[in-house]
Amino acid sequence: MATVLVVEDDEYVRSAMIQELGRRQHAVRSAGRALDALREITQNPPDAVILDLGLPDLDGSEALKMVRSVSSVPVIVATARDDEAEIVRLLEAGADDYLVKPFSGDHLNARLDAVLRRARAAGPPPVLRVGALAVDLNRREASLGGEPLALTRREFDLLAYLAARADRVVPRKELLTEVWQQSYGDDQTIDVHLSWLRRKLGESASAPRYLHTVRGVGVMLITPT
Ligand code: CA
Repeated sequence: MATVLVVEDDEYVRSAMIQELGRRQHAVRSAGRALDALREITQNPPDAVILDLGLPDLDGSEALKMVRSVSSVPVIVATARDDEAEIVRLLEAGADDYLVKPFSGDHLNARLDAVLRRARAAGPPPVLRVGALAVDLNRREASLGGEPLALTRREFDLLAYLAARADRVVPRKELLTEVWQQSYGDDQTIDVHLSWLRRKLGESASAPRYLHTVRGVGVMLITPT
């Protein structure tokens, strides 16, 4: 049994899926819009998400990207298009599996069981540790010397991204693409977040301990010696 979030705007399809999953003893929650799904995922993390790609408020791949920016929950995308290039793109963008509509209840459950099995076998992702800094990717919590840090979502994402690449310079462009999911933007966005993050880490740009700016290149999270 697992908690499954069904994201589907078509009421008929949604209730059919809820019924099918319920028959297998899964606890099912549902959302008809991407933004409601995101709120549900952050407030009440499910074990798996079935994500329809044709939602009224957000394009499917945008919705998937946003889910991935807040959670590592297994996601099965449901698409109406049996388009190989599109499916490959979605898998690369972080989908764990896909279903092409229309699909049967048995097919849905088989795919779901497979992603749940894989997720359970993989276990929770590790806690990243850099010096006295610990970043728990699963719980989205960070602490410094055992003291919890009160970070905003973006600050956490930035810290987690840098912690996974500690002691390497991460180009600003890469941060914009990967943390902000923007292909353009000005450096100020990054600088502002860095300065907030530094304050929370108890350091400053003039006397950095963990967060170092490499002028003209990027940012580096360093293991203090
Ligand atoms: Ca739809």
